[in-house]
Amino acid sequence: MNAVAEITVIQQHLIDPEICIRCNTCEATCPVGAITHDDRNYVVDADKCNLCMACVPPCPTGSIDNWRSVPKVRAYTLEEQLSWDVLPGELPPEQLAGDGLTGQALAEPAPAAAPVPAGEAAFNSAQYNAALPPWSAAHAYTNLYGPKSAAKSVTATVTGNFRVTEVGREYDTHHIVLDFGQLPFPVLEGQSIGIVPPGTDAGGRPHHARQYSIASPRNGERPGYNNLSVTVKRVLEDHQGRPVRGLASNYLCDLKVGDTVEVIGPFGATFLMPNHPKSHIVMICTGTGSAPMRAMTEWRRRLRASGKFEGGKLMLFFGARTQQELPYFGPLQSLPKDFIDIHLAFSRTPGQPKRYVQDLMRERAADLAEMLKDPNAHFYVCGLKAMEEGVVLALRDVARDAGLDWDAIGPQLKAQGRLHLETY
Ligand SMILES: Cc1cc2nc3c(=O)[nH]c(=O)nc-3n(C[C@H](O)[C@H](O)[C@H](O)COP(=O)(O)OP(=O)(O)OC[C@H]3O[C@@H](n4cnc5c(N)ncnc54)[C@H](O)[C@@H]3O)c2cc1C
Ligand code: SF4
Ligand code: SF4
Repeated sequence: MNAVAEITVIQQHLIDPEICIRCNTCEATCPVGAITHDDRNYVVDADKCNLCMACVPPCPTGSIDNWRSVPKVRAYTLEEQLSWDVLPGELPPEQLAGDGLTGQALAEPAPAAAPVPAGEAAFNSAQYNAALPPWSAAHAYTNLYGPKSAAKSVTATVTGNFRVTEVGREYDTHHIVLDFGQLPFPVLEGQSIGIVPPGTDAGGRPHHARQYSIASPRNGERPGYNNLSVTVKRVLEDHQGRPVRGLASNYLCDLKVGDTVEVIGPFGATFLMPNHPKSHIVMICTGTGSAPMRAMTEWRRRLRASGKFEGGKLMLFFGARTQQELPYFGPLQSLPKDFIDIHLAFSRTPGQPKRYVQDLMRERAADLAEMLKDPNAHFYVCGLKAMEEGVVLALRDVARDAGLDWDAIGPQLKAQGRLHLETY
């Protein structure tokens, strides 16, 4: 046996730290838990990654689509990857020649996608997440501004900043309007933008961008203006409940009209709404997960007002701890009942039993089963990461209780771009 045959060369899967916006989508998508992160970088564990490609289409920036030929014994460790500011280039042939490797041996393409394992023992809601938009979605522009684009960022001016939750003890969510003036920033409902907070981190590096879903429709927060809105929750405690002052969310919530903001994006080419007249939209969200739902609802409302859309139904399942914490509670109440079917779930109303979006979905099982059967119905889930599994399990139970074959419907929802999960 010669030396070349004895050496195992792998295509190591790496994330470009310069472009990655730390949105967590890939970590949530990976079926085998190969992706992890620290405060600095998102990284892929070469020992766990099976190159299934499930994480590649959902990545909004493309930063995850990087592959390097390396001898298996020299695979970049997690520690190395976590320390990178830039992605290393391919190893030079002379360095690899020492391992008895030829250039040809290194040029093997990454293996084709392997099927994502399914099975009830380890229910993985992310496996049903569509990597494609609905067939009737409009074309989305992505990455017009970013580290690898011709223009690194675009400056937007704040033209509005309103609180959209009742003044509570600690819960504070803002509706912020950004105007792009004459600079192109075309967006669709369901896309997001990146906000780059000013200043540098403790290591002297510029802060990385934070992602925010667009809350306004494609023709602007105000129709005909080159503006958009975002819904930002002020982060005052971390996921473990410890006091912390979230960098970007507090920066955004404290902005004044006339301030300028550095923006990158737009991002997202799959969490997009269907546009054919008979399409139904089922929206399931918590907290600021309502932002893309507001965008889709408002676009449908404008179409309806102009007489251009009458067919599809809208269903909304919206959860918050209390009514006071529910963004856009007031405006939601004034939408016509024949336009949108709204269900609100509050989990911390004093004296009332806890209710979650999944509970409401089970109550509307008959209608949801019809939606699951209808190829014109599209499902969107956005909000707290903790909600995702419960919501997809509720859909599975709705299907089974209605005598439908979830094992056929689940993969179909994904393949047809009918189920979209965006949790953070
Ligand atoms: C696709 C996508 C869309 C998003 N859309 C929105 C949106 O529409 N509105 C919105 O407000 N946010 C949205 N986010 C979350 C947003 O990008 C930021 O993560 C969030 O605003 C916190 O950023 P920060 O800089 O304030 O906190 P950081 O300074 O980054 O974090 C401070 C600490 O708080 C923890 N933390 C971060 N976020 C939360 C949270 N939400 N709850 C509790 N602890 C947290 C962090 O782990 C860290 O320990 C979205 C995220 C993704 C991936
Ligand atoms: S930008 Fe791509 S690589 Fe970075 S965290 Fe998001 S999905 Fe992962
Ligand atoms: S290619 Fe597959 S296994 Fe590897 S990190 Fe991406 S999702 Fe995980």
